[in-house]
Amino acid sequence: MLNSVRARLTLWHTAVLAVLLGLFAAGAYLFVVRITRARTDAAVLDALSDLTSELAAEGAQQGTTRGAATDILRERRFRTSALAVFDCAGRTVASSLPRPRSAPGEDREPPLDMARLAAFAVAARGGAPRLVTVPDSEGGYRAAVVPLLLPDGCFVASAALSIHDEVETLDTARLALAAAIPVALLLSALGGWLLARRSLAPMIALRERAARIGATNLGERLPIANPADEVGRLATVFNALLARLERAFTQQRQFMADASHELRTPVAVVQHEVSLALSRSHRPAAEYEDALRVVRDAGRRLRRIVDDLFLLARADAGELRVHRGPLYLDEAIGSCVRELRSLAQRRGVSVRVEALPEAPFLGDEALLHRVVLNLLENAIKYAPPEASVSVRLLVEARGYRVEVEDTGSGIPAEAQPRIFERFFRADAARARDEGGPGGAGLGLAIARSIAEAHDGRLELARSGPTGSVFALTLPHAGEPA
Ligand code: ADP
Repeated sequence: MLNSVRARLTLWHTAVLAVLLGLFAAGAYLFVVRITRARTDAAVLDALSDLTSELAAEGAQQGTTRGAATDILRERRFRTSALAVFDCAGRTVASSLPRPRSAPGEDREPPLDMARLAAFAVAARGGAPRLVTVPDSEGGYRAAVVPLLLPDGCFVASAALSIHDEVETLDTARLALAAAIPVALLLSALGGWLLARRSLAPMIALRERAARIGATNLGERLPIANPADEVGRLATVFNALLARLERAFTQQRQFMADASHELRTPVAVVQHEVSLALSRSHRPAAEYEDALRVVRDAGRRLRRIVDDLFLLARADAGELRVHRGPLYLDEAIGSCVRELRSLAQRRGVSVRVEALPEAPFLGDEALLHRVVLNLLENAIKYAPPEASVSVRLLVEARGYRVEVEDTGSGIPAEAQPRIFERFFRADAARARDEGGPGGAGLGLAIARSIAEAHDGRLELARSGPTGSVFALTLPHAGEPA
């Protein structure tokens, strides 16, 4: 049960309310006790003060306190209070008479325990009135005593007020609180439970909907009743996550489809050539040689695609192995240009090196060589004959910038945002016809991964009808110390 948020919420809410109600009830009860007691004490002291004044006046008139006390108290009859005068030995000089019961149903309080009051009276010292409680089985009396040193002796005047009603009222209040608090808690727990259920209902709906979403229906989204509340915000975040997942899944699927498509062509070529070579028992050696050459080329293509895919997979997993070492970027560029000279000649494209200042760098020579080679190779491959390709290396404040520019016909505007995607080719048919070393549409994707692994960037700086410029930037941080 405690695994349910609803139950935990209800329990916490009820526990906190129980503590609060308990504290409030205790506080209120103590306050009432104090107020009632203060009121009773004031009444008792008033009565005592009246008695002493009367006693003083009557005593002065009669010349004897005993006689005055007897006269004053003889006719006094009270049901819930008692007045008495004692001598200092504790003997009763005079006391008011208890009032007889007036009605048959009227409560009768237990009588005041005079002996106990006398004992308190004797114990009273000093001139100030003292307040005491004379207890009995049903609450008792609140009494005030004051010693009187008069010419005809030592006396103690006392006034007592029954607190039976007061105790009974407080008992009833205690009982009422003890009964009301559990009922209030029960009602509040029930309300809390229903409220929690109502508030959590959208969460439960979300959970059920989310449980139904799988790889096949990633396009579904969670319903959002109020995007501004907590549940709505959670659902929004969840929907954004689903959208990202869906995009990743789609890319993954596309990637698989593209990869198998690219692999299928060389495999089909191998199969076809081998079947053809074996279809007749005897063929001239030259025919076998031709077939083997085609198979070797298809094998090379296959190998390149598989290697590229492997490299991309490592880059995706953040495991691209970058063996950094000191190198000179200018030398790496020079070596790429030399490597592609014969391809450029075949295609009738001129390659120009514009600026190549000394550029020491700390990086993976083989990988960076691959990036520059890919940019130059593309520039030569996709440019028309007679076009020219130029490469320059610039030393900037923040790092190096390698620019490869061609005077080709540019990349179509709609293809420009996609050229760094895997297996993307702006003109797939032409790229394959050229029979160039790339061709699968993985070159720029790999080149960008390599640039990023060196904390650099690779982007298409410009492309239009007059040609394209690719820019590779690398931070100086890669420099050898
Ligand atoms: P590929 O193996 O096809 O060369 P890349 O990833 O290197 O793959 O390039 C992706 C696509 O970008 C190419 O198919 C081509 O259409 C386009 N492209 C790249 N460089 C250039 C360039 N310099 N001029 C025109 N198009 C280019």
